[in-house]
Amino acid sequence: MAPQLVTRAAWGARAPKKVSHDIRPGDGGVAVHHIGETPLALAGHAQCAPLVRSVQNTHMNGEYDDIAYSFLACPHGYVFEGRGYGVRTGANGTKDANDRFYAVCALTGGTPGRYDPVTTGLVEAIRTAIAGLRSLGGAGARIVGHRDLTATECPGALYAYVRDGRFEPGTAPGPGGEEPPPPGQEVPWPGVLLQYPPVTVHWSARTWQEQMRRRGWTIDVDGAYGEQSRRVCLAFQREKSLTVDGVVGRDTWQASWRAPVTAPADGDSSHRDAPPWPGVLFTYPPFTRHPGVATWQARMRERGWSLDADGVYGSRSRQVCLAFQKEKRLTADGIVGPATWQAAWAAPVT
Ligand SMILES: [Zn+2]
Ligand SMILES: [Zn+2]
Repeated sequence: MAPQLVTRAAWGARAPKKVSHDIRPGDGGVAVHHIGETPLALAGHAQCAPLVRSVQNTHMNGEYDDIAYSFLACPHGYVFEGRGYGVRTGANGTKDANDRFYAVCALTGGTPGRYDPVTTGLVEAIRTAIAGLRSLGGAGARIVGHRDLTATECPGALYAYVRDGRFEPGTAPGPGGEEPPPPGQEVPWPGVLLQYPPVTVHWSARTWQEQMRRRGWTIDVDGAYGEQSRRVCLAFQREKSLTVDGVVGRDTWQASWRAPVTAPADGDSSHRDAPPWPGVLFTYPPFTRHPGVATWQARMRERGWSLDADGVYGSRSRQVCLAFQKEKRLTADGIVGPATWQAAWAAPVT
């Protein structure tokens, strides 16, 4: 059975108090943990989500900003999303260890001779979490036990598995799929909000930009979420009736893979042929009312501009027109004539 990912929403996580991306996991890797020195004796998978919630409560009611672990793995073969990819863990015991290692916690416990069964599902789930942290979280190649980083018995009986390499992913798929994810396959939301300003630089910005380009948007794939990415995001959110905030969070991220591509058959919404110019100059003042105005306004919205598509060319439309004309080095007269009309379809979205 391929391990399944249980998202934070699915297990009922509380929101973190604070999130830090200040890590360099490429210099380390993943530390394996377990719950503690008491066997959990789980009766079934139905007990796993409540257990993860209680771990989070214990951590957050203490000194932690969130559940301390990056992911958790249960004996039934499920991977529970903890802090997730790209987020600093609080579990490893020292500043240096939290700088360089993610934390994967097994939902097992016990002491030598009295330890929960180590199932194939658990081993597969731990491997899957590690594979995902490498391919999607930038984790280095090391797999260590918590006890390698600080004075603790953790991860108990699982330490033997750490030592003999049985948690090495090999060909096991990660929660994001095979490594690397094939083009177009949904990548789980990494938990980092892509927003601007200031520019968000994160590996997931590149992943999202690649996906938007695949969908036909004109966007640079540079791993930096800046003004252009934000404009694409805004236009996409409007098109898909998402919350229009210019921030790629979980909903927008998922829609980038799941929502149907509604661009025309050539798949490129940014270099579409212009409809014929309606033969009316849009000017303000006074207002110009014409069906062609709504067509132009809708197209400008698609390009990421903020204006109503109400068919009335007024002061906001004129502002957008002027800014667009300046950007495209057209005559900046605030009037939509044949050249400005044509450019609204033909000019690349920048
Ligand atoms: Zn531990
Ligand atoms: Zn379970």
